[in-house]
Amino acid sequence: MLPWVVRRTRLPLLSLRCVDCRSETATTGEGRFRVNANGKLLDVWLLVRCVSCGRTGKLTVHERTPVRSLDPAELDGYRANDPELVTARLLDPLLARRNRFTLDWTGAWRLDIPAAWLDEGWPVRVRVVFDDPVPVRPERLIAQGLGLSRNEVLRRIKCDVPLRRSTSTGFTFTVMAGD
Ligand SMILES: [Zn+2]
Repeated sequence: MLPWVVRRTRLPLLSLRCVDCRSETATTGEGRFRVNANGKLLDVWLLVRCVSCGRTGKLTVHERTPVRSLDPAELDGYRANDPELVTARLLDPLLARRNRFTLDWTGAWRLDIPAAWLDEGWPVRVRVVFDDPVPVRPERLIAQGLGLSRNEVLRRIKCDVPLRRSTSTGFTFTVMAGD
């Protein structure tokens, strides 16, 4: 059976406090890096902008890193503001930890469910895969996907991961027939 797929529809926003206006939402916008060479050392930042007042901030990607230790293709990517590199860095948990922000995925992803997936008999087994590391609670995702209440999900679903704990890795669940 085809899996349900969780995928990104755009880059997530960042929950990051602005030092000017105290707003807590920032965006990478189109995605721009700044590279600063100092002798043989490089600093690389990913620029972010406060969505409220427009103040620009910098997230540290590389700090005083020897030029030779960077893959030249990666360095080119920083200089060219390669969108794939912007995405990769933004979604890298290391960057979030280092710069103390969390990703705000609200409205930035969707759940794709193959058509006619319920043509089989009960119980139905469903596999969920993640194209992007969107944190979702299985309970909510399943309720949304099946149009069930959360109570019904708890009653009719057997899941191989905890239903109420947020996850970004694939899982499988089984739907028992309703009453
Ligand atoms: Zn601001």
